[in-house]
Amino acid sequence: MSAERPIYVTQPELPPLEEFLPYLKEIWDSKVLTNGGPFHKRLEAELAEYLGVRHISLFCNATIALVTGLQSQRITGEVITTPYSFVATAHSLRWNGITPVFADIDPETLNLDPSRIEAAITPQTTAIMPVHCYGRPCDVEAIQRIADDYNLKVIYDAAHAFGVQRRVDDQWHSVLEAGDLSVLSFHATKVFNTFEGGAIISPDAKTKQRIDHLKNFGFVNETTVVATGINGKMSEFNAALGLLQLQHVKGAIERRARIDARYREALADLPGLRLLAPAPDATPNHSYFPVLVEANFPVSRDDLYQLLRQRNVLTRRYFYPLISDFPMYRGLPSATEANLPVARHAAEQVLCLPIYPSMTDDEQQRVIDVVREAGCSRLPERLETVFTEPPLPVVSELCRPQAA
Ligand SMILES: *Cc1c(COP(=O)(O)O)cnc(C)c1O
Repeated sequence: MSAERPIYVTQPELPPLEEFLPYLKEIWDSKVLTNGGPFHKRLEAELAEYLGVRHISLFCNATIALVTGLQSQRITGEVITTPYSFVATAHSLRWNGITPVFADIDPETLNLDPSRIEAAITPQTTAIMPVHCYGRPCDVEAIQRIADDYNLKVIYDAAHAFGVQRRVDDQWHSVLEAGDLSVLSFHATKVFNTFEGGAIISPDAKTKQRIDHLKNFGFVNETTVVATGINGKMSEFNAALGLLQLQHVKGAIERRARIDARYREALADLPGLRLLAPAPDATPNHSYFPVLVEANFPVSRDDLYQLLRQRNVLTRRYFYPLISDFPMYRGLPSATEANLPVARHAAEQVLCLPIYPSMTDDEQQRVIDVVREAGCSRLPERLETVFTEPPLPVVSELCRPQAA
């Protein structure tokens, strides 16, 4: 293992501690810790404005928000979803007694492929749960057309899509307005964090109200409980932190954009390393920097992962394994290899490189150097043991040292 400091796939963004102290003082003075206190109300209002949406309900995390969102729409039976996501997507279905039905993804976007949805619909299907993977918007129009044709709900797992906008007829709209509900995550590893947290974006005030009841045990007033709700509330501590984080998030996304641009410049010429093309007509949030290590890259994805580890660069294979490969899902008829070839291929090729706002140029250069060395087969001998097959010969021009 290298003596250099570890570089993680992400580092949570935090405001200066001094800036948070006055918020804490306010909480200590008021003794309002939770249950929709003043910080909670302010964060809902300020987030709605920042994101360009109207109705938002804060949650303790996105998983409970997904579970509650499905419950609020009374979704049952089967729901068509992507296997290429974080496991909470499918878990939220199972927590509602719903059977996930996996459909394959699009090879270009790695989002649920709309052309694969119809074949997965049965008389039990009640909804579609797509994920805006890496913050890249799904083909929301195509998905909505299918949902309308078959009278299905659409619940977006938008955990990656904080602040993402789409251009529709020359106007910018939040991607969170698509479908019947969208769910955000404010987990420590996400673009916008409240330590732990999440939110549901509702299309109207009535839906928001139902969700607000469900996240508070189903209480509608002091003595009336109308549903088997859960405790999904966000505390004042998390809400206060969110207010402060919101003041810094624009700059944080700009810094991510610069890191993204530098990776693209430094890695675009390596054969066999596919970078996902930015989505047309969308403002990205640069939450992840996935690369696909294809067959003609000199080393395999797992060897590149190990090689980076040896240099203390801790990348992650999001999303490997597929959700459909976990023990509680792999017995499902939709979990077969034959049903999900594109997702399986992506899961075998993907590597998410480190990206976070506080990443220094030197840290990024360390990552770039290892990937370029691997891509050029110019490896020091002591590292060759990690290869399962001999590296290919150096490809002429490519391996000149990268210009500074
Ligand atoms: C992070 C994440 C979640 C879960 O979010 P939590 O806030 O940690 O519960 C759900 N879905 C996806 C796609 C995620 O990346």
